[in-house]
Amino acid sequence: MKRKRCMKWTLSLLGTTALLAGCGANNEMAVGGGADTEKDKLQVVTTFYPMYDFTKQVAQDDADVSLLLEAGMEVHSFEPSSQMIAEIQDADVFIYNSPEMETWVPDVLASLDTSDMLVICASEAITLLEYEGEAHAHDHESEEEDAETGHTHTVDPHVWLDPVLAETEVTAIAEGLAQADADHAENYLENAETYIGKLNELDEAYRAAFEGAENRTFVTQHAAFAYLADRYDLVQLAITGLNAETEPSAAALATLSDYVKANNISHIYFENNASSQTAETLAEEVGVELAVLSPLEGITKEDQESGSDYISVMLDNLEALKQSIN
Ligand code: ZN
Repeated sequence: MKRKRCMKWTLSLLGTTALLAGCGANNEMAVGGGADTEKDKLQVVTTFYPMYDFTKQVAQDDADVSLLLEAGMEVHSFEPSSQMIAEIQDADVFIYNSPEMETWVPDVLASLDTSDMLVICASEAITLLEYEGEAHAHDHESEEEDAETGHTHTVDPHVWLDPVLAETEVTAIAEGLAQADADHAENYLENAETYIGKLNELDEAYRAAFEGAENRTFVTQHAAFAYLADRYDLVQLAITGLNAETEPSAAALATLSDYVKANNISHIYFENNASSQTAETLAEEVGVELAVLSPLEGITKEDQESGSDYISVMLDNLEALKQSIN
């Protein structure tokens, strides 16, 4: 049942060897109790938006949930500040998507005393897809980067964009919170069940929309939608690779542009962020429309306050995708 993807390592702390789980709710550490003397509520730190929203849905008001990466921060190339690392150190529970997304997490956790912290890798139970990049020729550079950093970018971490896999992540988060804060365990599990019901409806809406569609290919800015494509039998063509910041080569762009022209593609999807220039240029070149498809790697505070959340943005994404997939 336990997957080996999330690493474990040993670390010497004050003369004792502590076994740290890089990932996973059922590690062998003592778990920080919810109600410590300083703060009444369980202190939970999450990395980027979907982790925050899923956790908030589960915790409601029974835990203090904070978000490390505000909207506008590039999740893929993020490195935490020392202030953020201090915030993680103070948490009872730390929740992230995967070492393949938040690549800085294993190193940061190794540098902290996590004996009193529960670490939840929300995607732990999910088998990640290998990324099959084709529309970009940046591989040599990223391989060099990999050699330098020791990170691999060939595994696709974007599981939260599949509503069904989102349910798996919500379950992992709920079980972790229940373990860390037994007093509120029942609430966490109940809230998770309610939220999973909503994710089921989201899944149904996607299924119904794409049933029998003839044109099933969509072109995106970065390769964030492979799990969603897999779930609903669609084909994602990405302008850039897994990382939102990589730029495609001229040759790759030409191939993509030929494909778009030859295959009656009506829309190119971009993200409302700084890296959208290539998608915009391509759309203009081949004379197709632009539409927004959000990878949910960040939602602005403003949008959150006006009611945007994971489910509402996924419904916006569905409306946008219907423009190509029909
Ligand atoms: Zn991404």
